[in-house]
Amino acid sequence: MDENEFEIMLQKYADVAVRIGLNLRSDQRLLIRAGIDDAPYIRKVTASAYKAGARFVDVQWADEQITRIRLEHADPETLSHVPDWMLPRYEEYYQRGDASLAIASSDPGLLAGIDSDRIATMRRAVLQKVSEPLRKYENLSNWCVMATAAPAWAKKVFPDLPTVEAQMALWDAIFKACRVDQPDPVQAWEGHVGRLTKYKDYLTHKQYAALHYKAPGTDLTLGLAENHQWLGAQESFKNGVTCVVNIPTEEVFTAPHKDKADGHIAASMPLNVSGVLIEDFSLTFEGGRAVKISAKKGEADLRKLLETDGSAAQLGEAALVPHSSPISRSGIMFYNTLFDENASCHIAFGNAYRNTIAGGEDMSDEEFSAKGGNKSMIHTDFMVGSAQMDIDGIYADGSREPVMRGGEWAFTV
Ligand code: ZN
Ligand code: ZN
Repeated sequence: MDENEFEIMLQKYADVAVRIGLNLRSDQRLLIRAGIDDAPYIRKVTASAYKAGARFVDVQWADEQITRIRLEHADPETLSHVPDWMLPRYEEYYQRGDASLAIASSDPGLLAGIDSDRIATMRRAVLQKVSEPLRKYENLSNWCVMATAAPAWAKKVFPDLPTVEAQMALWDAIFKACRVDQPDPVQAWEGHVGRLTKYKDYLTHKQYAALHYKAPGTDLTLGLAENHQWLGAQESFKNGVTCVVNIPTEEVFTAPHKDKADGHIAASMPLNVSGVLIEDFSLTFEGGRAVKISAKKGEADLRKLLETDGSAAQLGEAALVPHSSPISRSGIMFYNTLFDENASCHIAFGNAYRNTIAGGEDMSDEEFSAKGGNKSMIHTDFMVGSAQMDIDGIYADGSREPVMRGGEWAFTV
C-alpha cells in the first residue's frame, strides 16, 4: 500500500463506520471516544459523518498513557475517585438517542507490572459510577465499536517489525477483517449480514436447553436462558436505527442460563483484561459459577475480575464463530477482544445482554434473572473455540444434535 492507496482505504473504512457500523441518520449527533493516536482516522470519520448529515460530531480524546501514569504515581486512596461530570457527559448523548462510536485499539500490555489491587480499585470505581448507570441506555440508540492500528498495539501484534511497518501490517489485517479490501465494502457487508442472520434465526428456532462443549481440556454443559434469542450481525435500537455494532463481526451469540454451567473449559487464547494479559487459563463451573480457576499468567488479575461483584463469576454470553472465519484464517493473534472474539467461539463472564432473552429489554431485573439472565458490572469475553471443538445442542427432553464439529458449523442454512 502506498500513501495514496492507504488514504483511499482509510476513507473507505470511515464510510463503513458511518454507513454500516452506525448507520448514521441525518440530523443525528455523534459522540466519538478515541485515543490521540487515532486522530487521522477520526478526522475521516468526522468528514463522513457530516457528509451523511450529522448535526454535530463531538470527539472525546483520551491518552491511555495517562491511565498508566495515574496507576503508577497516584496515592492509592485516590484511585476510586471519578469526577461527577463523567456520567452526565455520556448521558446527555445516550438519553437523546444520539449515535456513538468507540475506538478500541489499546496497548495490550498497557498496565503490565501494575499492582492488580490498584487496577481493580480504579476499574470498580469507573464501573460503578459510569458504566453501570449507562447500561440502561444500551438499547436506545445506535452505537459501534471498531479499531485503528495504534502504534503500541501494532508492536504487540508484530513485535519484529519497526513501529511504522507494524502499524501498516496491522492496518492491512484490519482492512481485510473489516472487508474494506473488497471492491464495494458496503455491499460486501450487506451480504455478510444476510448470511449471519440465517444462522442466528436457525439457532433461535431450535431453542436448545443447553450446549455441550467438548475439546481437549474442555467438557462443559452450558444451559441456555429461557426464551433465549440468538443475535448477531445487526442490532435494532429504540431510536429506530438498525446497525452493525461491532466492526468486524463474525459471531452469533445468546444468553446462557446464569445457574446452569457444569464442567470445565480451557481458554484457547490469552485474554487482555484492562491492559493485563491472562494466559493459559482454565475454569471449572458448578451450578453456573466458576469455582476453580487456574492460569499460567495473570491468575491474580483473573481472580480479581471474577470478584468484581457477586455475579461476575457467572456467565452472560455464549457465542459461536466457525474456526474458518476470515479473522481466524489470518492466523494473527490480535490481543484485542474485538478481533480475537471473531476468530473463536467464546463465552463471557458477567452481564448478559437484555435482548438475548425475548422481551428482556422490558423486564424488571427480577424477571430477567428468573429466565436465567445474568446481571453484573462486568462483561468480559474469553476465547474457547478451536479446530478441535465439538458442540452439541441438547433439547429439553435430553435428545441432542451436532451444532459444530471440528470447529465448523455442523448444519447448513
Ligand atoms: Zn461475543
Ligand atoms: Zn461479549
